[in-house]
Amino acid sequence: MLRRRGTLFVVSAPSGAGKTTLCRELRQRLPGLAYSVSFTTRTPRAGELNGRDFHFVSEAEFRRLRDRGAFAEWAAVHGNLYATSAEALEAALADGRDVLLDIDTQGAEQLRKRYAEAVLVFVVAPSIAELEQRLRERRSDADSEIARRLGRARDEIALWRQYQYLIMNRDLKEAVEQLEAIVLAERARTTRLMLQMPDLEVPN
Ligand code: 5GP
Repeated sequence: MLRRRGTLFVVSAPSGAGKTTLCRELRQRLPGLAYSVSFTTRTPRAGELNGRDFHFVSEAEFRRLRDRGAFAEWAAVHGNLYATSAEALEAALADGRDVLLDIDTQGAEQLRKRYAEAVLVFVVAPSIAELEQRLRERRSDADSEIARRLGRARDEIALWRQYQYLIMNRDLKEAVEQLEAIVLAERARTTRLMLQMPDLEVPN
């Protein structure tokens, strides 16, 4: 039997919509899901570990890697650069592992073009007011940073129609269940199972 290629799941959301928590919870439910550790030029926040949460690199190093074609996508987000490793992503997919990417809308757009079969999921908070409250509760960001993120959130929300799925994150448990259902349903698509069909056919 030929090995099934993994499926790429791209989750985007304005910051504060709860996407990071959602992705973490999903990985607990579906441990087989590979998670890509992004590269970034942002400074680590308290508790973040290099290599686990992000690969923290200098701008010079980031540009060097980008110019070498090391990234499947990259984008400037909130004044910092972020990217997905092309090699790590390709290796996981070729190995038949489904990959979950938590990236911004610009990156999602690049991956949609590069991987036509990718599944794009957009997560939104129930309202802008709720989004602002969540950003404030996080307390890791200054007021000016919160204002900047909110402005960007409005621009990002306008792009929701480019995604195949939309999750309204009112309740974490419900949102995780929805995300899990999307992954499970996509795994059962006949087009993704084509390579395994000979095994599924009943002999005459
Ligand atoms: P934060 O720095 O707050 O963890 O993430 C800020 C934003 O950058 C989030 O919207 C997150 O999804 C996005 N991001 C994280 N990693 C990547 C990446 O590899 N590529 C792109 N395009 N965006 C990313």
